Amino acid sequence: MIRVDLQWIERGSCSHPEAMTIGGGSLCATRFPALVGVIRHPSRGIFLFDTGYDPAFIAATRPFPERFYRWTTPVRIGAGEEWRAWLAANDVAEAEIAGTILSHFHGDHVAGMAHLADRPVWCARAGLAQLRRPGRLARVRQGLLSALVPPQVDAKARFFEDAPARALPSAFTPFAEGRDILGDGSLLAVELPGHCAGHWGLALTTEAGQPVLLAADAVWSGRSIAERRPPPRLTTALLGDTRRYRQTLDLLSQAAAGNRELAILPSHCAASARAFRGEDDTG
Ligand SMILES: [Zn+2]
Repeated sequence: MIRVDLQWIERGSCSHPEAMTIGGGSLCATRFPALVGVIRHPSRGIFLFDTGYDPAFIAATRPFPERFYRWTTPVRIGAGEEWRAWLAANDVAEAEIAGTILSHFHGDHVAGMAHLADRPVWCARAGLAQLRRPGRLARVRQGLLSALVPPQVDAKARFFEDAPARALPSAFTPFAEGRDILGDGSLLAVELPGHCAGHWGLALTTEAGQPVLLAADAVWSGRSIAERRPPPRLTTALLGDTRRYRQTLDLLSQAAAGNRELAILPSHCAASARAFRGEDDTG
């Protein structure tokens, strides 16, 4: 695989009881960061993997029934997480952003799309279809805020399902195949079904040679993978498909156990993000 640079950075956070995210978890409210991948390709520019939270999320959840989303999942978006401030703080030159790769369409992954809608967007056809389905209340119940994704995205979206299949390096076993979204083998989208319709991760190799699977919301935490502990059925059935979710978790557990160098990075796991950055995991 062509190697790329990856920064795995927080943009906003939310809090909800840990018990919703892992079987036997605590009932206390726990803070979950929304992590964004800033991927620097050696010749094609910068690609964002998801957008994290954005002040647009607050605007989109002001009216009812969208307000329910914010009530059930309180969010925190600091001043430093406003779009331009966040880019500057992380040395991301806006003009160099070549496109966005969306794992799925939940509000915490697409809230910043208004800043990116004039550039290429890669996503799952099945996910975009779900975002635009009729029924405002039904969408909110599934974490979908259609207003966050400008309509021009629909016309220009490039779908994972249409990209050519390509074998993944053995470091990703048992995941065997991805969709080669740039056509050069650098970024391979991997379907991770179960969390919601059209949910995909991204396989890449960093400049240091480390294989990485950005796992989005296939699990909430690295602990869930290591201990093979899925969230309660209630959570997975509300948003997606429990049986497929658990199959995906099984594959992630096998991948983690069989490939010691592989970093699996869930979008809301602070501990795996710190480990990937080489930070001491005491907090
Ligand atoms: Zn999420």
